[in-house]
Amino acid sequence: MPGRFIPVAEPALAGNERKYVLDCLDTNWVSSRGQYIDRFERAFAEFCGASHAVSCTNGTVALHLALLALGIKPGDEIIVPTLTFVATANAAMYCGATPVFVDIEPATWNIDPARIEERITPRTRAIIVVHLYGHAVDMDAVMAIARKHKLYVIEDAAEATGATYKGKVVGSMGDLSTFSFFGNKVISTGEGGMVTTNDPAIAALVRQLKEQGMDPNRRYWFPLVGYNYRMTNIEAAIGLAQLEMIDWHMARRIELAAWYREELEGQPGLSWQVVQPWARHVYQFVTVVVDPSLGVERADIIAHMHTRGVEGRPVVFPMHELPPFAGLAQGQTFPHAEHVSRHGINLPTSASLTRDEVKRVCESLLERLAPVSTAR
Ligand SMILES: *Cc1c(COP(=O)(O)O)cnc(C)c1O
Repeated sequence: MPGRFIPVAEPALAGNERKYVLDCLDTNWVSSRGQYIDRFERAFAEFCGASHAVSCTNGTVALHLALLALGIKPGDEIIVPTLTFVATANAAMYCGATPVFVDIEPATWNIDPARIEERITPRTRAIIVVHLYGHAVDMDAVMAIARKHKLYVIEDAAEATGATYKGKVVGSMGDLSTFSFFGNKVISTGEGGMVTTNDPAIAALVRQLKEQGMDPNRRYWFPLVGYNYRMTNIEAAIGLAQLEMIDWHMARRIELAAWYREELEGQPGLSWQVVQPWARHVYQFVTVVVDPSLGVERADIIAHMHTRGVEGRPVVFPMHELPPFAGLAQGQTFPHAEHVSRHGINLPTSASLTRDEVKRVCESLLERLAPVSTAR
């Protein structure tokens, strides 16, 4: 097999990560206080154009903190796209709230704003939008609905650090926004997350909730039930180094998406997220949907890619099909989400991929699509 195994995602530690981590070790600042926490939070807020950024353990607890800070409680309903990573729906469950699912738009694969209003009830409190794979949601449409119905908006930007909507970086438009720095995201701290907001009171509450609920002005006084959802200084050190190179990370991802298009464009039966003119897509994953009319099973394609040393990953199941949520969407249909979920393949997408590696990925995919190779 020529070359290394190409994983679907891996972090690219191309800057000051090592230097900053060693600084944490050398100075003994390894826990959840330290200069890198403060520097990463400040730099991240500035990058997103938000007034406040609060670091936390991962993108899942970032969502939990966001819902808690908005006072979401049992019986509340939270509108979410059905095509997302499970954490978006789980966060609603942590608060005892009910996730209410909405289908995606066929073009962007993001929540379809035209289908939101029909799901709003007197119990609806918030909409969580997900900038799927790094393509921003049509925020103006969502914010107009939210204003009309007096709903909160949370941007789940876990996959979209640096994505823009009409020139605005995601993380500054909703009431709160959440980010993930897991190993397969645009930038990574290993595990890590961030909450951003422009509201100082919400930011203070998020900070208090992630610090066990402690009164910031009275040590060991806990006026509310909080959590230990802190990030470590070591993680923040990696995060700061990653953020220093965010332009490089985004440029590399945009470049390799263009390479994929070059290799696969014109191939019948393949479709993609359609990038809107107002979006900067940052490609957490380049994802291709293989039309069932080609008569090739997705599982066979992925298995074939594997024999060529390439990882391809099926798009996640839509939330309404998962056992904890299956009862919540009875009688509804989500044809667009189901189509992408059933036929989509996440292709290797890492800032460190080379042109040759992208070529190898595409060859491994095309071999299984072309009749000549299926006969082998
Ligand atoms: C990854 C992800 C999360 C959760 O982030 P973790 O850091 O893995 O907890 C939440 N929402 C979406 C859309 C994600 O892709």
